[in-house]
Amino acid sequence: MSDGTAGSYSGVERRGLMFVLSSPSGAGKTTLSRMLVEQMPGLQMSVSATTRPMRPGEVDGRDYYFVDRPKFDEMVGAGEFLEWANVFDNRYGTPRAPVEAALAVGRDVLFDIDWQGTQQLRSRAGSDVVSVFILPPSVQALEHRLHTRAQDSHEVIRGRMKKAGDEMSHFDAYDYIVVNDNIGVAFESVRSILRAEQLKRERQVGLDAFVRGMRQQLEG
Ligand code: 5GP
Repeated sequence: MSDGTAGSYSGVERRGLMFVLSSPSGAGKTTLSRMLVEQMPGLQMSVSATTRPMRPGEVDGRDYYFVDRPKFDEMVGAGEFLEWANVFDNRYGTPRAPVEAALAVGRDVLFDIDWQGTQQLRSRAGSDVVSVFILPPSVQALEHRLHTRAQDSHEVIRGRMKKAGDEMSHFDAYDYIVVNDNIGVAFESVRSILRAEQLKRERQVGLDAFVRGMRQQLEG
């Protein structure tokens, strides 16, 4: 099926892009990521490795690869991460191989990573990275979401609230900002950003030949 880029008509591949969503915990990024993967063909989620303990309902290999600290450090040493960072006293990293394999065949990859990881990706992959920062509509809304999620203790939630301000201070390094007041509206915004970026001229390789072919038919 055509995805609307010229490549899908002419047989020329589009370059895959790296689509990053960041936000403080509780701003709705995980829900938005799930919706995007379900509804956008050819988009796959990057599954990170982490040293933090598994939360109820999480599945190893689906939400994260849960590894201990020695294993994580071994992976760092072996160059297995595209980026990695310390977040909330735990380590998180993006395994390199699945991302490179996906991009090589023109698939897009979605990343739920923090600002430090986004910076590292950008310095490595430049214009192939498109970054979106999700903001909560208010501090009250953020606190409410963290409590109703009920996956963390009160102490952990207090810590996350404190860190949210720090995380938010990095908004100005992102390409797009979406305030998640209503999940349906926020999803539509994020989906539109991804669609527009997919259609960018410089991501559609082989346009010259595609247009030349049509012009020859029209003029010949
Ligand atoms: P959580 O523990 O709530 O799942 O994630 C905590 C934070 O770590 C989130 O802001 C999330 O975006 C970030 N994170 C998750 N995976 C990665 C990763 O692979 N690299 C980086 N840099 N941050 C990550």
